[in-house]
Amino acid sequence: MNDILDPLPTTTESREEFDIEIKGTIGQPFVKNVKMSSRDCDVFYADKQAIFNINLDIGANEIIAMIGPSGCGKSTYLRVLNRMNDTIPICRVTGQHLLEGENIYSKKMDPVLLRARVGMVFQKPNPFPKSIYDNVAYGARLHGLAANKSELNEVVEKSLIKAGLFNEVKDDLHKAGTGLSGGQQQRLCIARAIAIDPEVILMDEPTSALDPIATAIIEELMDELKENYTIAIVTHSMQQAARVSQRTAYFHLGKLVEVNNTNTIFTNPKHQLTENYITGRFG
Ligand code: ADP
Ligand code: MG
Repeated sequence: MNDILDPLPTTTESREEFDIEIKGTIGQPFVKNVKMSSRDCDVFYADKQAIFNINLDIGANEIIAMIGPSGCGKSTYLRVLNRMNDTIPICRVTGQHLLEGENIYSKKMDPVLLRARVGMVFQKPNPFPKSIYDNVAYGARLHGLAANKSELNEVVEKSLIKAGLFNEVKDDLHKAGTGLSGGQQQRLCIARAIAIDPEVILMDEPTSALDPIATAIIEELMDELKENYTIAIVTHSMQQAARVSQRTAYFHLGKLVEVNNTNTIFTNPKHQLTENYITGRFG
């Protein structure tokens, strides 16, 4: 082999033991069965750059975990994927971002419809100050997904069943969503997202405000949801990333350092920065 004639591809398998410069994403950022993709993504808040040249595919029906130290751009990148950054006036996003091959930043794309296709669940459960029923029915009404009351009832029931909450609330559908426990509220928010039949669900630290039992219920639920949906989850818990995801993306200071199947990331990280993080040397 002649190294000079064989330049390294952008995804290299070499182990960068002593060089913790970030040269580009290593591992396998690209997949065959693509649901969403980003190319050359930079994000700025006014003059401050928060994301540097991210190139990533998210595969259909996979759970991809996004990990990394606080402030490294995980939430910012997640918000790129459903244009939630549009709501932050100083935020500017560049690059090409596709959902099923469609440019989500094109003028033709309605951000409200995009967010119905790419739903989001936040760290702090945020049910509307409405009944459990109306929380779940909200999006279906907004998008005209039910022709009559009985269809709407069906959407609400099915969504609550899929979110693993129906049995606990079926006799209380007209009580306030905000009266539920934290774990139940988070499942209510997942039911609300599911009710409009999204293709992708973005979850930004969805269990960090929950106790271990509520967390375990949500993690089990995610495993079932991936049959029908694609999920990108930001998590501070490496155990959670290892338990729920098939691929893991490691972010550091706004750069996507390494992406690989989750097992490889946690047992055989290729980049020194990934190894430092997963072995607890920083973060
Ligand atoms: P993470 O989710 O990994 O903790 P964030 O995406 O929240 O990281 O933040 C990445 C960087 O962008 C940080 O430097 C943060 O201060 C900055 N940032 C995030 N949101 C905003 C905002 N609304 N306005 C200005 N700067 C922001
Ligand atoms: Mg965040």
